Amino acid sequence: MFSTKLSWDYLDKNCYFYYYFRMKADLVIRNARVVDHAGEFFGGIAVNGEKILLTGTNEALPEGRREIDAEGRCLMPGVIDPHCHLGVNYPYDEDMRSESAHAARGGLTTFFLYIRNKEPSYIPFYHDRRAVGEANSCMDFGFHFGIQREEHIHEIPKIAEETGVQSFKLYFGYEAENPIGIVPATDGWVYAAMQRAAKLPRGKVSVHCENTAIATWLKKELMATGRQDLGAFTESRPAFCEEETIRRMIFLSELTGCPLYIVHTTIGIGPVLGAEARARGVDVTIETCPHYLTRTAYDKDLDMRAKISPPLRDEKEKEMLWEGVLNGNVESLGSDHVPFFPKKGEDLWKEKPGIVSFPWELPLMLSEGVHRRGLSLSQLVAINSYGPAKHFGFYPEKGSLNPGTDADLVLVDLDEEREVVHTGNGTCIYTGMNLKGWPVMTISRGRIIYENGQVDEDAFGQGLCVNRPGR
Ligand SMILES: [Zn+2]
Repeated sequence: MFSTKLSWDYLDKNCYFYYYFRMKADLVIRNARVVDHAGEFFGGIAVNGEKILLTGTNEALPEGRREIDAEGRCLMPGVIDPHCHLGVNYPYDEDMRSESAHAARGGLTTFFLYIRNKEPSYIPFYHDRRAVGEANSCMDFGFHFGIQREEHIHEIPKIAEETGVQSFKLYFGYEAENPIGIVPATDGWVYAAMQRAAKLPRGKVSVHCENTAIATWLKKELMATGRQDLGAFTESRPAFCEEETIRRMIFLSELTGCPLYIVHTTIGIGPVLGAEARARGVDVTIETCPHYLTRTAYDKDLDMRAKISPPLRDEKEKEMLWEGVLNGNVESLGSDHVPFFPKKGEDLWKEKPGIVSFPWELPLMLSEGVHRRGLSLSQLVAINSYGPAKHFGFYPEKGSLNPGTDADLVLVDLDEEREVVHTGNGTCIYTGMNLKGWPVMTISRGRIIYENGQVDEDAFGQGLCVNRPGR
């Protein structure tokens, strides 16, 4: 389970030393169900400084300056959210502070922003966003950059070299005049970006998959009916729009050899297409989001404020997506967390798409996945921590419990039951739901940033950007 070369080297140099000389580690958690993507055992974890010192049985662990009795709760790698948007409506520095606090409450230890910049170069933007992020966030974070003009495509090798960002996003499904100001992609952009990203060691192209032209046509038809219900938005961008673009992107990925990451998959056929492509040797990762697994456009308590892009679907798609999660064809879970100003609820077609979900991603997956559908805890870690880390090239530093790696951990109480209450920015579509299984403690690089229902105020400004020049 923990047998990489890194861990054994580290064990040799550190753990025996600690064990035989009875030195104390900074933090030791015992009596836990220790879970990673590959399995679980009963014991705990010792942390020294920012790193995991040892993962093992209770007896194998050294004494700690601080000792925590997990009382049988689950100790897992912290949740890594590969997909959120901050600084879209509210100022970026405020979002990095307020939303990283919500992330800590949700058991996250790293989040990645899909972020856009319309200037010709991403280099100054990176330096600014990294500095402001590090001054405010209470946990580590990283970036994927949106391709918004041709210069960005030409700049890909330089961006990788000078910022460490090697992951780029292209957007379909947005018309030229969309309310969020996203510049939509062309197939030419995707092809050219893939050609360049394919040459990078961790290069990845992410795509928002929806056939823009068909969705634009259908939107006009649906608008003309006067409908304002949430289902009308869903029906204006049917499942086949998403399927068509997923197929087209897989074709281009196969052609260019560029690893492809399909963000926020809403349709049950998505994981199947991903698995078929992988069987041919194409590097395709399917991501879905908690909302597509837990809500539909026809849920009685939802209205136009639950507009999300791509849209919530129906029961059939929801259950087929779960099949993909349970059989391992979905390899990554992203929140698509985006705090917009309070939505007006006046016009379905003008409403901004997006919701917040940092605090509830883990409880939703524990309730609906682990408790209700028999998802194993290891499977959950595989998609909410290991998968995102691996697919973006950050494993095992992130997403593992290996000695010598970042001590990013979450302690989970599987039995705690609580109702969702939303107090922050953005729209929550889970208010009033009773969820079973909540994070009780979050540890970011060895520091406890959330415990007893409180986020550590001194943790803000301690987060680091994981994308660094030359990496
Ligand atoms: Zn998104």
